[in-house]
Amino acid sequence: MDGVVGLGHFCESHGPCVILATQRCQEEPRQYPHSLSVPWCESCQSIDLDQSLVSKDEGVCYVTTRTPLQQDVAFLLKQAAVRSLSCEETREGGTMYFGDSERGHVLSHTFALQDSLARGFHRKYSILILMRDKIHLLNCWPILTKNIKEIASDLQTKAAQINGVEQSQCSQRAVRQAQGSPSSPARSLSQLTGEPAVFAHLHMWFTWLLTVEPFVEKPSSAPEIPISCPPAALRALLKDMDRETFRKAVYCILTGIKLKVDQEILGVFRQLLPQNWSLPKSGEICKLGKIDDKWVVEWSGCLPPKLPKLQTVIEEALQNEALVDRALEPFLIGAILHWRNVARSLTWVSAPNQELFQSLGVQKFDLPLLAYWTAQCRNEKN
Ligand SMILES: [Zn+2]
Repeated sequence: MDGVVGLGHFCESHGPCVILATQRCQEEPRQYPHSLSVPWCESCQSIDLDQSLVSKDEGVCYVTTRTPLQQDVAFLLKQAAVRSLSCEETREGGTMYFGDSERGHVLSHTFALQDSLARGFHRKYSILILMRDKIHLLNCWPILTKNIKEIASDLQTKAAQINGVEQSQCSQRAVRQAQGSPSSPARSLSQLTGEPAVFAHLHMWFTWLLTVEPFVEKPSSAPEIPISCPPAALRALLKDMDRETFRKAVYCILTGIKLKVDQEILGVFRQLLPQNWSLPKSGEICKLGKIDDKWVVEWSGCLPPKLPKLQTVIEEALQNEALVDRALEPFLIGAILHWRNVARSLTWVSAPNQELFQSLGVQKFDLPLLAYWTAQCRNEKN
């Protein structure tokens, strides 16, 4: 995971600041960010400015320093710390996302540690993950959130234990000090948690967080869609023909009745079928041609009182002016694919019953279409 994990802290003297940052590097740092001015008091203390904690793993280093090694990253992380520590905590213990492409995308978890000497008897910290890639950050969200909360709750438990001991020993003095003295002694995270190696432990945790990679399932070879249906030519024909003629032509092409018309027009109607299907070579013929510039159809059959559902859907969509061609094409492809899938399902059973038809949404008026389509699906399999 490319990003930086930081620990922010709200210091009573210095306000929100970053006190620890872990990032992935190609090699150990040769120089330390001396030039950066960072607040320095007991409460803001973590590791020294010229110190780094390094873990190595197959050519990669995970480096923890007082502040990020690059000045621009340090600036962005500081901004993130200010934002996460300045706003009100959210209900679920303060986990939130914020950011944009300029300031980076941030997952932050704000939490409080008990401290009898602090104002309000607690100190505010936040764990921050700053990334350039929003999608990646959000993909990792569940696992990052879970672990960040665990780190926070581990620190909280330790601080509560220390606080409990202090309270039992001298609670009155602690309360007096916290309320009365303006210079209440600031304490570092090590002191609050009673854990001298707390920053080394955080380095290990943060390093682990940086190794998190989301598992993304991608189809290795997505099947090609065997339909191409740019609708402009169909719409032009619909306008050019009278409704009945167009309807008969579409009905014939969809139900496997041979359509006799010039190749160009046949190609347009043929778009309504999957590309690898064969057109009927014999049988009933529907002849479509122009007489005195007017489309005329010659067909011995007649349209059923109710057309197959797919045909109704196609006609309605072609006439729907709100559907622009760019949207209409995928719509038509989806509708055709749906009925191809229905036909395929029917090829899996030898004698489909009424229940199966019902579950597939097939009605009586769809059967002329499905008789042709299931035959084509059987051919596809062979
Ligand atoms: Zn400070």
